[in-house]
Amino acid sequence: MDNSQITHWCHEIIHSQVKEGGRYIDATMGNGNDTLFLCELAGEKGKVTAFDIQEQAVEHTKALLEHHGIRENFQLVLDGHEHMAEYEEPGSVDLICFNFGYLPGGDHRIATQPETSIQAIETGLSLLKHGGMMSLCIYSGGDTGFEEKEAILEYLSRLPSKNYTVIVNEYCNRKNHPPVPVFLWKK
Ligand code: SAM
Repeated sequence: MDNSQITHWCHEIIHSQVKEGGRYIDATMGNGNDTLFLCELAGEKGKVTAFDIQEQAVEHTKALLEHHGIRENFQLVLDGHEHMAEYEEPGSVDLICFNFGYLPGGDHRIATQPETSIQAIETGLSLLKHGGMMSLCIYSGGDTGFEEKEAILEYLSRLPSKNYTVIVNEYCNRKNHPPVPVFLWKK
């Protein structure tokens, strides 16, 4: 297995930073791979709330969790991540995971959008505990374009350093607009 692939890399960092048994949000459920990872990390004592705007994503994720025998510690929400404050209390969340873009194997025209993505990040910051973490996988090029990546990186670069640490990673020798993994901590 290639552990340098963006999703593995993000999972490795999350695993090294986040306590098991916490409260986690998967802001972009998609086919459920991140939700499954977070449910396993959460264990019986933790909880995962996962969002997507597509019924197909919720169905795929439900089936994946069932296949892996995960039955209890999650809530799958058919709603935009920009509404996540309706589901969690401010300052209560240990980790929020974003994997922007479109549903792999689905309709590429239904994808995360700069405006709602930034709203969701901003709301997510208010839900994070102090010491909590956000992981963001940002894609660009192809059907995704560049607008969302530029808007998110610009927004993150303006966050005050006294309140947040933001680390932007780069695949510096990969061609064709490689994804950008970003990790953020709320101080
Ligand atoms: N985490 C997923 C996985 O492990 O398979 C991959 C996520 S996929 C790259 C991006 C997902 O974001 C798509 O399923 C898409 O429907 C979803 N999405 C788009 N806009 C959204 C929004 N406003 N709120 C929540 N999800 C959204």
